[in-house]
Amino acid sequence: MTRPIRVTWQIHQLGTETAFEVLARAKRLEAQGRSVLHLEIGEPDFATPPHIVAAGVRALQEGATKYAPAAGLPDLRDAIAQSMRDRGVPAQAENVVVTSGAKPMLYYALSALIEPGDEVLIPDPGFPIYESVVRWAFGRPVGYSVDTAREGAVDVDEIARRISQKTRVLVLNSPHNPTGAVLDRGTLASLAELVDQNDLAVISDEIYSQLLFDEQHCSIASLPGLFDRTVVIDGFSKAYAMAGWRLGYGVLPISMVRHVERFIINTTSCAPPFVQWAGLAALTGPQARVQEMREEYRVRRDLLVHRLNELEGVSCAAPRGAFYAFPKISGALERKALTAGQFTETLLDEFGLACLPGSAFGAGGADHIRLSFATSRPTLERAVDVLSEAVRADSEATRAWGERPRGKATV
Ligand code: PLP
Repeated sequence: MTRPIRVTWQIHQLGTETAFEVLARAKRLEAQGRSVLHLEIGEPDFATPPHIVAAGVRALQEGATKYAPAAGLPDLRDAIAQSMRDRGVPAQAENVVVTSGAKPMLYYALSALIEPGDEVLIPDPGFPIYESVVRWAFGRPVGYSVDTAREGAVDVDEIARRISQKTRVLVLNSPHNPTGAVLDRGTLASLAELVDQNDLAVISDEIYSQLLFDEQHCSIASLPGLFDRTVVIDGFSKAYAMAGWRLGYGVLPISMVRHVERFIINTTSCAPPFVQWAGLAALTGPQARVQEMREEYRVRRDLLVHRLNELEGVSCAAPRGAFYAFPKISGALERKALTAGQFTETLLDEFGLACLPGSAFGAGGADHIRLSFATSRPTLERAVDVLSEAVRADSEATRAWGERPRGKATV
């Protein structure tokens, strides 16, 4: 009998993104003939705008099928630098590195910035890949809270208290997944002071920078002295509905660029050139569609938040950016004696509603669920009808489920 192949301790440090796991589970149910409402994945339901698709197709037809420079096509690096300058970030093309989605840039940046045992401040709740990458890079994640109900969303004093001799990096994410919180200029200025006093680097994940509903996006890298300490991460997945194209980028202090370039040479070689030409069309072409999609997200946000707040035991602050609602459902969970993980399992299994437990985003997300409103209004309406049935104190299905023997929640 062959023994199972041995894998490393280190590979076990990689976490996951529950959204992809729940999506896979929902697809299995659909394959069995069940119908599922998809509010789990953070992926625009819109098609990529046609002029972007056309640019990608044209590039393919014109032979953009060879390797490209590791750091990206010069034209695209130029256009990204220009778009950064439009946000007040003093970037040149030489500061830009193009990657296959925003996610790889997190690996490149953290691998370049931390030594084993170094501490990295990450939002909790927060995008789960931060913790995963920090552990993968032999670092120690230290969570700080994010709360939409709080003025400024984060407590700068709390973050200051979490800084130790070993802290190297502060990870920011604004607009924030999963809460939709936005870091305003005042808060960013206080954080910038902290960063400077403690000689930290910043990784600023700005993937939702074009999805703010009521205000302009502000990047910490636009504040005096911060550009040289900050890695800005952004991409095309969300604003341009290009998640499957896998195109993102980092804007880095010049001294880091060659290291990240080498990392790309060691891994993907380059982002596919025809995809980069599509990205160039996205950045330099008409922006009306981005605005239309944002307006539609706003309508969906208002609809969803309004209806969620009508449910007993549920309260939901309006997200200021991104496309997620993050309602607190502690009242409903207490009544049913369920964790959010158990509740979202029953929502999928019994009610055909796929969404995520807040705990998938860290301990700070307990008692919440995340609902993506990157889906149609009728789907959102049906989802809240289902939730309304599921949170009702006398709901048969969740009561019966709650009485089942408890194992560890799998989502
Ligand atoms: N950062 C955050 C906060 C996200 O929510 C996501 C995707 O969900 C990403 C990064 C990854 O984006 P990409 O699809 O460009 O890799």
